[in-house]
Amino acid sequence: MSGPAMERTRFTVTDLKQYAYCPRIVFYTYCLPLIRPTTGKMEEGRRAHEEAREREQRRTLRIYGLEEARRYFDVWVASEELGLTGRIDLVLEVAAPGGTGGGREWIPVDYKQTGRRAGPHLRRQLAAYGIMLEETWGGVVRRGFIYSLLTRRAEEIPLTSSLRREVREIVAAMREMVERERMPDPPSSLQPCVNCEFRRFCNDVG
Ligand code: SF4
Repeated sequence: MSGPAMERTRFTVTDLKQYAYCPRIVFYTYCLPLIRPTTGKMEEGRRAHEEAREREQRRTLRIYGLEEARRYFDVWVASEELGLTGRIDLVLEVAAPGGTGGGREWIPVDYKQTGRRAGPHLRRQLAAYGIMLEETWGGVVRRGFIYSLLTRRAEEIPLTSSLRREVREIVAAMREMVERERMPDPPSSLQPCVNCEFRRFCNDVG
């Protein structure tokens, strides 16, 4: 998979999530696409997000510490620089402090079906949304929220330059893996393998 005619792979934010779970899943997705199992999990996730959207329309903005904001649902964004696309559950639009970024600040919100505090991979997903929002819509993105569908709480995440750098490094590592067709090692803990839909293709995980 090399040469000038090769099309650049466009990754999705779902790939970022799966890469954090196990890089090999992203390898299978792009290097062996025909083996991908079908799953009911995606349908369940879609239903949960639709319900969350209906509730969001009735929710007060105070949960995000805001008095006023415009809401945009299911926003598609992309970054040419990263070769990444994604769909953001909710984007809040507020006035930017000091009129920066053309006067608009965008705040991505990601719904999660977990009650735990956001770990590094959730923070990176949000930073990826922030990078793509700035590239797609202009304006400024300084922070985002992870909204838990279980606890109904929103956790604010500052989208720092180091978080953004981590996103760029991970996308570069995914690209190198796919373009060189190099199957990565399994994760150091085999816990993710227990319920993995790709398990029958991984003969080295027992
Ligand atoms: S079975 Fe384990 S090593 Fe194989 S793709 Fe799944 S999580 Fe990764």
